[in-house]
Amino acid sequence: MTNQGGVTFGFISDQHPIINDMVNSIKKMVAAHSVQKCFLVNNTFAARPDVPNIMVSLNCPVNERKIKVPCRGLACTHFLCFDAAAYLVKSLCENRWTCPLCHKWTPFHELCIDGYFLHVLQSGLLEQLDFEIKVHRNGAWSVPGREYQSISYISA
Ligand SMILES: [Zn+2]
Repeated sequence: MTNQGGVTFGFISDQHPIINDMVNSIKKMVAAHSVQKCFLVNNTFAARPDVPNIMVSLNCPVNERKIKVPCRGLACTHFLCFDAAAYLVKSLCENRWTCPLCHKWTPFHELCIDGYFLHVLQSGLLEQLDFEIKVHRNGAWSVPGREYQSISYISA
C-alpha cells in the first residue's frame, strides 16, 4: 500500500513525522569511513580470494525499493544495508528488532548509517534505474555497464 509515494506497513507510513525524527537521529551515527572500508576489504573479500569484484544491490531488503538512507546495525558484519525508514516502520509494527540481513537483534540505539553506501548514493553518479554497483577489491566501485567510470572510494 502506498501513501504519498511512501510505503505503509500496517498503519504507519515511512514518511510519518516520528519516523523522520528517528531517521534524523540515526543520521548522527555515521560509522567512520575507514571502518567501512575495512569491513569491505576484510569481510567481503577475505573468503573469496579469487573474486576481483562483487555485485552489490542498492535495494532495501525490507521494502525492495532503492535505499534512501543506508543503515545497518553496529554489530552487523555484512556489506549490504537496508533503508532506515523502512526498517523502523517494519520493526515498530512488528515489535521485533532484528536485522533483515543477518537476523541479529538490532534495536534503534544500535543503528548506524553506512558511510560507504552513503558516499555511493550521494555521488551524483547513479541514474534512476541503477539498482546495483560493482565493488572492486581495492574499495573502488563502478556501475555495471559503465566501468569506464570507476570511482575510487575516499576514506576519511
Ligand atoms: Zn545485520
